[in-house]
Amino acid sequence: MSISYQWTPEEQREYSLAKMFKFIKDYVYPYHPYYRKMFKENNIDPDKLNSYDDFRKIPITEKKDTMEDQRAFILQPKTEDSTYDIEEIGKKKKLQYTWKTLTTRYLRDLYGKPRSFEDRVRQTAAGEWLPIHFHASGGTTGDPGLSFYTNYDLKSVVPYIAGMMYLFGWEPTMRALNMYPALPHLAFFQVIFAEFTVDNGGAIFHTCGGKAIPTERQVQIAGGMPFDMYIAIPSYMTYWLKTAIEMIEGGEAKKPDPVKLAVLAAEPLSDEYRDMLKGQFEKIGSPDVKIIEGYGSTELKAAFFECGEKTNIHLNPEFYFWEVLDPDTREPVPWGEPGVITFTHIDWRGSVLMRYWMGDLIGGGVVWEKCSNCGLTMPILRPPIGRAKRDFTKVKGARVPLMNFQNAIRRVEGVESFQVIITKEDEEDQTSRDRVIVYVSLQPGADEEVVKAQITKQVKIDTEISPDQIETEKPEAVEMRLFERTGLKADWVVDKREIHV
Ligand SMILES: [Zn+2]
Repeated sequence: MSISYQWTPEEQREYSLAKMFKFIKDYVYPYHPYYRKMFKENNIDPDKLNSYDDFRKIPITEKKDTMEDQRAFILQPKTEDSTYDIEEIGKKKKLQYTWKTLTTRYLRDLYGKPRSFEDRVRQTAAGEWLPIHFHASGGTTGDPGLSFYTNYDLKSVVPYIAGMMYLFGWEPTMRALNMYPALPHLAFFQVIFAEFTVDNGGAIFHTCGGKAIPTERQVQIAGGMPFDMYIAIPSYMTYWLKTAIEMIEGGEAKKPDPVKLAVLAAEPLSDEYRDMLKGQFEKIGSPDVKIIEGYGSTELKAAFFECGEKTNIHLNPEFYFWEVLDPDTREPVPWGEPGVITFTHIDWRGSVLMRYWMGDLIGGGVVWEKCSNCGLTMPILRPPIGRAKRDFTKVKGARVPLMNFQNAIRRVEGVESFQVIITKEDEEDQTSRDRVIVYVSLQPGADEEVVKAQITKQVKIDTEISPDQIETEKPEAVEMRLFERTGLKADWVVDKREIHV
């Protein structure tokens, strides 16, 4: 039975829990090396999991747990050369594969050398188990984490996640311009998934990023062909729009047809960030664009989106079991209370995680209710979304969410772009005073002294500390700083101190 988004939150939660328990019994316990071992070590009987309290006996999985042996997180039946304690494929499943083989016309048999029926059955089984698609995380938090997808995932799970793009108003006849760089990352591939797996597919042009097609050329493409939707990382979107504005004003490119939707993910979007982007969109002739935020991760194997502007991220309860846990005690918090988002895959193949601690602190918690915008009932993330650890830092003794620097400076009129550096008065001496330097580029006509005074004032309001130094630089110099490290995502705030608590 499939879920209905007309059900009550209680009905959905019951469904999600029951579907997860069945998945644990049928797939995780028999075929998942890591969790099978964990269940045995903790005396957890998968047949006796009946309630959420039972489920909570399962220890939480963190990134460090997955890094020791990433292969142990892939569902896999026992084969002759396998060293893991897992089960072989049972008789019932073998019969299912045999039956399916009888009704499948494989291209392998159309074009390849003759083979036995047994080999054909093996191909059917591989469709469920063999990983055929891979993502690596960006590696901003150390070693890259990997995720693995099988053909089963791409046919039976992924379309139900990628199809959630209809929530924010995507229509089958629309066209999208995907500006994500072509990398083995979820953000780029979820767009590909949508293009090929959702209903009849979708018309999407992939620029493959600024390194594949220079931004100036992309702007010309956008001016020559109508697109309803742009998809990008927020910091690249602002750079792209800035380039477009200059080219249009200089007569080097045509104004693109009005864009209806801008889907932005992989960096948090504050209200100030959205306002700045809206101002830029207005200048290229798209004053009515809706900015839709996305949220995803390699480990999650999917990204989720808002159903409208500022309606918050809608999560999928059919293929995930969601928990929100207290960052310190790791006990569940009530719906709508702040906590760290934690998920369990349901009915995925390939890599599967249980009670995976994403590390993101959801400031407004998760509300599970009927959304007043789309009318569907779903778990919905309420911002702000920050890292439970990394996005907070102590500067000059004050606990500062790094996002606050960005919001404060973006509010200042006349600021084109900026970067904040947190360092030490003496970089060699960790006990010396913290020092905050702001590099800023100005919009044409802005008064340098006025902008500097406003930055000092706004930063003080939002972070309780004052910058020690504000330097103006040419826009290109600030742009270079922002993309210096990754070439992909802007580093708006850089903490250069080695140790800080
Ligand atoms: Zn909604």
